Amino acid sequence: MKILVINAGSSSIKYQLMELEDVHHSTLLAAGLVEKIGEPTGRIIHRKYAGGPESKFVEEEHLPTHHEGMSRVVALLTDPDKGVIRNASEVQGVGHRVLNCGEVYSDTVRVDAKVKDTIRDFFLLGPLHNPPNLMGIEVAEEFFPHAPQVAVFDTAFHQTMPPKAFLYAVPYEWYTKFRLRKYGFHGTSHKFIAQETAEYLGKPLDQTSLISLHLGNGCSMAAIRNGKCADTTMGVTPLEGLVMGTRSGDIDPAAIPYIMGQTGMDAAQVVNALNKQSGLKGICGVNDMREVVEAAGGGNAQAQTALDIFAYRIQKYIGAYLAVVPGLDALVFTAGIGENSASAREHICRGLEHLGIRLDPVKNHAPSRAPREIQQDGVPLKILVLPTNEELQIALETKQIIEGHNG
Ligand code: ADP
Repeated sequence: MKILVINAGSSSIKYQLMELEDVHHSTLLAAGLVEKIGEPTGRIIHRKYAGGPESKFVEEEHLPTHHEGMSRVVALLTDPDKGVIRNASEVQGVGHRVLNCGEVYSDTVRVDAKVKDTIRDFFLLGPLHNPPNLMGIEVAEEFFPHAPQVAVFDTAFHQTMPPKAFLYAVPYEWYTKFRLRKYGFHGTSHKFIAQETAEYLGKPLDQTSLISLHLGNGCSMAAIRNGKCADTTMGVTPLEGLVMGTRSGDIDPAAIPYIMGQTGMDAAQVVNALNKQSGLKGICGVNDMREVVEAAGGGNAQAQTALDIFAYRIQKYIGAYLAVVPGLDALVFTAGIGENSASAREHICRGLEHLGIRLDPVKNHAPSRAPREIQQDGVPLKILVLPTNEELQIALETKQIIEGHNG
């Protein structure tokens, strides 16, 4: 079955076209990124992986709206040279990454008018993502009218959190009236990792417990008990929790009016700085973990401090989640940093030996892209490195919905 996966942002459309049977039998046919929609010059980077040698095409042209962006995607996918299908009707389903559906859905759903209303209803709680996500759905409906559209929500996997984990201790009507609560994000990745962990360990998912560490540009952890999310670090927005590339993570909210008073910034400007100028970047000036590690190794004290704060915050959450998840099977690293940075993993695990977390330095540094374990021999608690694949998970869930196994 050919499934198109779409992740629409405010000025971008990321896409992947996959042919898939199941998690073990999937082929990426083509993928790309449309960016700078609405700017004077838009750009499309399109990669073709099937039907000839792997090739990359870059185009620049003015793309006033997502409609023109999607029109170029369809033209590229069906182009005799650059494309991989003859006709848009070969796409049998379109899976969309959607940020937030609140408490309305705890699983993937086929898009209908009610689903669109729900996405709209959460514009205020996902102002940067929900509006373009809906736009992505609406343009895909135009170009693929025959194909079911499916919404895969970043918040859905976290809906199993109990109230004691998702409620903030604030006036209760802020929750009942304004829906203020912890939602959590990266749910598609944490769910994929939970399934991959179960498979790696040869256990049923509902008997598998793990702490999942999704460490990319955005970073979050999930405490997963018997296959279900018990707690996660991100909150009502993705700002809460871990230190990230440019996000502060946890901070005393009283710091916000204080900084407003000191700088003359308004609340939105301070929150913007907490999202875009903080985290690793705020401490040492760069947000790419490779550069932070290199600078720290070269004796840059600020970079070392950034690395220390990053790792320490994760260590504190590991401690907390060990309390939340009895009978833990594995600590699992994933995403750009989690999969690739042996230094970050070492920094995070160092000093946690008393908790049974014992990293093997040789296994940790052995270069590999495969799922692997990196704990010392004979230690019961496994430390795994598992590649995440949110697009594949979205495609698989889209296929399940179309085949009627779900939702
Ligand atoms: P996104 O959240 O945008 O999907 P990724 O999962 O791709 O992000 O992760 C991006 C992060 O991964 C960056 O901080 C980058 O420095 C880090 N990263 C990628 N490759 C490596 C590597 N080989 N070593 C260290 N860090 C890496």
